[in-house]
Parts: sequence; structure tokens; C-alpha cells
Amino acid sequence: MADTLTSPVLAGTSNRPNIYHNFIDGEWVEASTGETFENRNPADTRDVVGIFQRSAKADVDQAIDAARQAFLKWRLVPAPRRAEIIYTAAEMLAERKEDYARDMTREMGKVLKETRGDVQEAVDTAYYMAGEGRRMFGPTTPSELPNKFAMAVRHPLGVCAMITPWNFPIAIPSWKLLPALVCGNTCVIKPAQDTPLSTFNLVRTLVDAGVPKGVVNIVTGFGSETGAPMLEHPEVRAVSFTGSSAVGRTIGTTSAKSFKHCSLELGGKNPMIVLDDANLELALEGALWGAFGTTGQRCTATSRIIVQKGVYHKFVHSLVDRARKLRVGNGLDESIDMGPAVNEKQLQTDLEYVEIGKQEGAKLACGGNRLEKGDHAHGWFMEPTVFMDVNPKMRIAQEEIFGPVVSVIPCENFEDAIQIANNIEYGLSSAIYTRDVNKAFSAMRDLYAGITYINAPTIGAEVHLPFGGVKATGNGHREGGIGAIDFYTEWKSVYVDYSDRLQRAQIDRPE
Ligand code: NAP
Ligand code: MG
Repeated sequence: MADTLTSPVLAGTSNRPNIYHNFIDGEWVEASTGETFENRNPADTRDVVGIFQRSAKADVDQAIDAARQAFLKWRLVPAPRRAEIIYTAAEMLAERKEDYARDMTREMGKVLKETRGDVQEAVDTAYYMAGEGRRMFGPTTPSELPNKFAMAVRHPLGVCAMITPWNFPIAIPSWKLLPALVCGNTCVIKPAQDTPLSTFNLVRTLVDAGVPKGVVNIVTGFGSETGAPMLEHPEVRAVSFTGSSAVGRTIGTTSAKSFKHCSLELGGKNPMIVLDDANLELALEGALWGAFGTTGQRCTATSRIIVQKGVYHKFVHSLVDRARKLRVGNGLDESIDMGPAVNEKQLQTDLEYVEIGKQEGAKLACGGNRLEKGDHAHGWFMEPTVFMDVNPKMRIAQEEIFGPVVSVIPCENFEDAIQIANNIEYGLSSAIYTRDVNKAFSAMRDLYAGITYINAPTIGAEVHLPFGGVKATGNGHREGGIGAIDFYTEWKSVYVDYSDRLQRAQIDRPE
């Protein structure tokens, strides 16, 4: 077995799947527990995508120690040089895009055009963050005293721990790793147990691009066993988490005890408003893509559609008609529109919410059933589901389902729509379809969310803009763009006195 540890993967045979290792201090290693777990294809659970290390605190501690050592050198590598490595990684990722997209579809189910987009998001982030290596600007400003110079510079934090979800398994890790690295931090990442392969692929690319040993470490395993120990470790200076609000609350409170910086990107229940004057065809196209893309398993998924009464019936009728025509199946088949739920538990949740919606008195307009015959026999498939006549107070209109279940809510007018949209625990993304510029600008101001789209669905963020939300969606940080640089650096103010005498701020005032 020993010789296999120098390679990232122990190649499988047709009967034996590949075995993947942790990457700690520049070495591909087994977990201290000697235990592994299987990663299965949700479109066909007979297909084992790979065997991954089930790591524990000892592995996490080792990775953090490696990252702490590596930080001593990495922080001194000039940022433009660090950026060159990130740039190389961008080019390698672009070359590997198709392979990585296929791996991702196989491990978590979303269709190929979306997994290609997921890898592309990492490519875009890498190019953007490589550019930051020659910026990372800080202010220089006049001192209040003569012959004195003042500026603020960005410093890296040290070891950063990252815990990520399964729905964007290359894109989300890239939003965390790439800015952290260009700023001079070192990283330990724990991907979701459903998608270790994609994050493994990203880390492997960074290593191939020249990231030195110990600077990036990946430790796979379960949240409670592998994620939790990161939060308590005194050497971890920052924790970046994307996932559910429930787990996020624990991450935030635990990290706070040792004053770690903590970025939380959490759940959503994103509204799309369709007003009477909307381009209805465009709104329908957006609704389908927003609600059923990634099988509704996006934090920014369109899960509430608030439709003004003048177009309500026409809109719902057409939406249902089109939702019924979506082809559900294995995302590796290019003709498929919607893949499976990521796992059995998520499918059960989706089906439970269908029952909740019915009991609450919403009208099930289409879908609602598991698909388990023929091509669907071995996967976690369900029909695209539309509830209509939903009351905004119902649980299906308030709680994040994270599946292909959308609630259509009728509304009277613009003001009513905004009120329904905002009257929710979350605040990630939002959208409005209207041709009235006054209403569009009012919505940009009044929708209480981190992101607002005009005449586009709630999904489709670009990497150079701030990404994140308000209320239970997060704790005020933003990923993407310059917000990420802000999170992964700390300001140091520097005063240089060249007067050759003691000058006292606030006390020595010119006559
Ligand atoms: P999750 O259950 O909260 O898990 C997220 C990550 O946390 C996983 O890696 C998980 O590991 C780990 N984890 C679980 N319990 C933990 C613990 N006690 N200590 C440390 N780590 C722990 O979320 P998910 O089901 O993967 O993802 C779906 C959720 O993510 C949705 O709520 C969605 O809205 C949200 N999301 C938000 C954004 C955003 O940017 N706002 C983006 C994407 C997704 P295991 O999986 O191994 O248990
Ligand atoms: Mg899987």
C-alpha cells in the first residue's frame, strides 16, 4: 500500500473503485482512523464514484500544523508571485474542465452544462484573484503631523479553515481557497461528504500549478468528525463556511469563542416577482431555470414566484405546462434538463415538503412524486413540482426546501409583492420582472437581499461582484470580488515619522 500514497489516487479496476487520499503537508496520505467512506452517484447508486478517507481530529490537527509551518514562508512570497501560481491553476482548470465537469455530474447529479459552469466559475475566480496579486491596494493618507507618513497595508491572517457544501463543489471552494492563497494565507479544506472528488480535483490542480507543500491541505470526512475539530483549534485564525443556516449557527458560535474571523454563507428562500407588465415569456424561461436548475439545490434557487393577479393564471398555466416537459434523468446525458436529488435524505425532505404543502392547503399544480421506474430505478429522482395559490405564511413559502419544489404566490400590486418578498427569515437573492423603470429602481432599493436581478432569475452571480446575503443568510461578509480580499486580510496601519523628534498625535497641534 505504501507506494500508492505518493500518488493522489489508488487506481481502481472495474470492480474496485478508485481510492482517494487526504493531502497534508505535500503528501497524499490515508486517514489516521484507517476508515474510508463511499461516494456514490445519485443518478445511479450502483455506481461508486470513489472511496474517500474518513478523517478525524488527528488528521485535522496534522493538516493545521502543516499549514501553520507553511505560513511562515508563504506569507513572505511576493503576492504577484503567488498570483502567478493561481494564474497557472486557472489555465490548468480550463484544460481539465470537461473531465472535472463529468466527475462532478457523476458525484452530485447536476447536468453537464451546469457542472461545466461550476468549473468555469473557478477558472473565472482564479483569473480575477491572480489579478489581485498586483493590486491589494491600501490607503496612503496625510498624517496630521508634519514630516510623518501614514498608510494601511493588508496582511494575511494565517491558517484558514474552510468547510463547504455539495451543491457547487468546485466553485465554492474556489471562492475561498483562491483569495485566501493570493493574500498569503494557508488553508485546510473539508469538502462535503457528498462531493469530495470535485474539491479533490481543485486541490490537485493547485498542487500541479505549483502551490508549495503545506500551503493547501484537504481532509475529507463527515461534518461532525472532520469539520468540527477545525473550529476549536487555536491556530486557525479564520473559518469560512458555506452551508445551511442550522450548521452555520454552530460554526459561528463555536468560532467566536476563540475570536476567529468567521464568514457564513447560508440558506435562502429567494423570491422572483412577476408584475403585470413583465415580458412573460422571459419570466417563464427565468422561472424554469431558476427553480429547477441544479434540481432546485442552489442557495440562490428561485423558490417563491410572486405573480401579480393580472397575469397570474396565464403565468402558472404556462409554467406548469413547461415544468411537465422537463426531462429528468442522469445529467451525463446531454438531453436531460434536471438531474436527481443529491442523496436519499434530500429526496425525502423534498417529498415531505410536498405533503406539508398539500396539508397546508396549497394547490399542487404539477409533480410531487418520486420517479423510480425504468431509467430512474436506481437514483434519487423526483418530478419538477409547482405549488400554486400558496399563502406567503405557509411553511412551503417560508422554509428552505432545497429541491425542485417551487411555490407560486399571487399578489395584488408592486407594494404587496415587495412585502411578501421581504417577509422571510432569509435574504440572499431576489428578482423582479417588469418593464417599468420606476418599479425596477424601487425594487433595487426595497428588496431586502444581498442580490437583486432585474429581468433575470435569482441565479447567475458573477465572480467579481460581492456574493452573500442578509438576515439568516449570513453574518455580513461577502465572497467574490474585493469582499473576499477584505475577509482574508487584516489591516495594519503604519506610521513613519521622519521628523527626528517626538511628535504626539492629538496633543501637538500646530499654532
Ligand atoms: P450543511 O449540511 O450545512 O453542510 C455544509 C458543510 O458543513 C458540509 O461540509 C458538512 O459536512 C459540514 N458540517 C455539517 N455539520 C457540521 C458540524 N457540526 N461542524 C462542522 N462542519 C459541519 O449544508 P449542505 O447540505 O451541504 O448544503 C446545503 C445548504 O447550503 C443549503 O442551506 C444552502 O442554501 C446552503 N448554501 C449556501 C450558499 C451561500 O453562498 N449562501 C451556497 C451554497 C449552499 P458533511 O456534508 O460531511 O456532513
Ligand atoms: Mg455522491
